[in-house]
Amino acid sequence: MNEAINVPVIFGSDVFTEAAMRQRLAPAVYEAWKQCIETGSSLSLENANEIAEAMKEWATEKGATHYTHWFQPMTGITAEKHDSFITPTGDGRVLMEFSGKELVRGEPDASSFPSGGLRATFEARGYTAWDPSSFAFIKDGSLYIPTCFFSYTGDALDKKTPLLRSCEEVSREAMRILRLFGDTDAKRVIASVGAEQEYFLLPKALYAQREDLRLTGRTLFGAPAPKGQELDDHYFGAIRTRVSSYMKDLDEQLWRLGVLSKTKHNEAAPCQHEMAPIYSNAIHACDSNQLAMEIMKKCAAKHDLVCLLHEKPFAGINGSGKHNNWSLATDTGKNLFSPGSTPRQNAQFLVFLAAFIQGADEYQDFLRCTVASAGNDHRLGSNEAPPAILSVYLGDELNAVVDSIIRGTNYTDPAKSMMRIGVDAMPAIPKDTTDRNRTSPLAFTGNKFEFRMPGSSQSIAGPNIALNTIMAEELRKFADVLENADDFDSSLQTLVCQALSDHRRIIFSGNGYAQEWKDEAARRGLSNLSSTAECLPTYISDKNVELVTRHGIFTETEFRARYAIHLEAYNKLLAIEARTMLDMAVCQILPAVLRYTQTLTDGLLSKKSIGAACKAESSLIGKLSTHSDWLYDACEKLKADLQKLPGRTEEAALYYHDTILPDMQALRDQADTLEKLTAKDYWPFPTYSDLLFY
Ligand code: ADP
Ligand code: MG
Repeated sequence: MNEAINVPVIFGSDVFTEAAMRQRLAPAVYEAWKQCIETGSSLSLENANEIAEAMKEWATEKGATHYTHWFQPMTGITAEKHDSFITPTGDGRVLMEFSGKELVRGEPDASSFPSGGLRATFEARGYTAWDPSSFAFIKDGSLYIPTCFFSYTGDALDKKTPLLRSCEEVSREAMRILRLFGDTDAKRVIASVGAEQEYFLLPKALYAQREDLRLTGRTLFGAPAPKGQELDDHYFGAIRTRVSSYMKDLDEQLWRLGVLSKTKHNEAAPCQHEMAPIYSNAIHACDSNQLAMEIMKKCAAKHDLVCLLHEKPFAGINGSGKHNNWSLATDTGKNLFSPGSTPRQNAQFLVFLAAFIQGADEYQDFLRCTVASAGNDHRLGSNEAPPAILSVYLGDELNAVVDSIIRGTNYTDPAKSMMRIGVDAMPAIPKDTTDRNRTSPLAFTGNKFEFRMPGSSQSIAGPNIALNTIMAEELRKFADVLENADDFDSSLQTLVCQALSDHRRIIFSGNGYAQEWKDEAARRGLSNLSSTAECLPTYISDKNVELVTRHGIFTETEFRARYAIHLEAYNKLLAIEARTMLDMAVCQILPAVLRYTQTLTDGLLSKKSIGAACKAESSLIGKLSTHSDWLYDACEKLKADLQKLPGRTEEAALYYHDTILPDMQALRDQADTLEKLTAKDYWPFPTYSDLLFY
């Protein structure tokens, strides 16, 4: 048994929190820092020096010897480079020093991070700049300073900078609407996010025996185990001891780092689990999720486990996603997606709702692109939650409201009264309706939207940048109209009604898995981009470029760089997967199968010599030989096709999708058939049964 931990005491104990700052900084310095994060004013070097000194004192008291600028390059994971605090005194001793300059700016050797062409080779330097709104923390003996990462020419090279920009934008535009509704208290609007993280845990010893898991994070081969998830005996089931001690350890580490880990449970697939945090502002939620993913992996090693964050580690059972719960709230604590109790509050709610629906419809492709990756392609549109078609689920009550508002304009049913916004009260919308639709990619769940498309391994920066920016854009359009309206109420009515009826097609309550929905969605003109190769080109459409540049989220160059990086990542990943398959097939599977066939053949010949029956051997040898030949052919085809890759990245992506992936599947089919024909002792690596039911 671990000793009991005092959660309130350890929570955030490794974070240089606002409370720690208040305690350790001179009041004037603390105020200057507050000003800086609230109004964006800059910090003087003297103040930065004071903060650096206080941080260092705090960190060294806690045993830190190093500091690092911590940033989120476009690889989707975090990066760090550690420097110690030591400074020589000249007489052979050292002091522990840390200056404001070192706090504020860093210059990591950044030439190997993807830049999508943003950095010319002659100017490969990248810079990191302290983000004073995110708290520094201690991990593994280092003081971590959250930073933004940019190039010599000032282009953002990271995921954090555009996320910060998008939070500012959505706040600015939402405030315009709030002012129109007479809110004079709120100063800012905050995008709040809670990201539910799914993952798999496997025994390390078994993982180590599979090259595919080690190199690609997923199984590239593996016949289905005799048992899958059909009994639903894992979901919310009792957590086994080893996993439970892992989760306990994980929680403790996350809490120390101020990550609001709240819920843990077993997920649908065997060996699959989930950690859900309490929501916080989008920046903190994104930092927290990056930390959580890293700690999940590290912590697993301590428990002789491996944590898989891949979207689809195993064929045939559920993959892992990251439900991104998103909403907007004022700094005074009002959730803007909470239906209110008065007609006025309802009217404001409906403006935000209509803006969201309009945005989701207008920018379906953009949202889809932010979750596109080779890994996530195995989930979206592949018989798994959710489909690749973007739609919004509102629930019955809200649907009824939307219907009655829409009916108001076209008067198709004059018998039914229309809902007059700002005058009529809305029916109460229960926060948790029981018929919540689990297949919806973007579901309204009472006071927030749950975006279920993001993949388990990806950074949530991209999806939240998109949600914030799209919302900012629609609110901007609404505010432009409403600020100039002669009659606010009737203008409001027209606006909301127009938005809802124009974009009604994006609202869908039915079963998102069904083929009927695919047909229906096509009739509605919704886009259905089932793979990364197909969807990414829409990322840089004029409409999206216009959106992100208008709001200053990305320059066009920054935006195109991201497109190039995502596309390249897709190609590289599939190349690695294809080569790993070849390696395993040629060097492990085929030799094993041939050995087994040889044994059978020897046995058959001896048995024949004494006249014994040998139908089993003979039949098995036949099948093994046939499938071995087919496996060999499949390898040759994949190898040959890999030689024919087109040079241009866009064409290569399509080629990977249209040619290489089917080759890989054909190869897998042969290998999986052989697995079921080969004696267990001969099979060169652990099977699905071994891995999933250890
Ligand atoms: P469930 O979706 O299982 O019913 P909850 O509604 O409690 O569970 O929350 C799921 C996730 O959504 C949690 O991470 C939670 O912190 C987050 N969440 C709840 N309210 C909000 C909100 N207003 N904004 C963003 N995220 C939220
Ligand atoms: Mg949920």
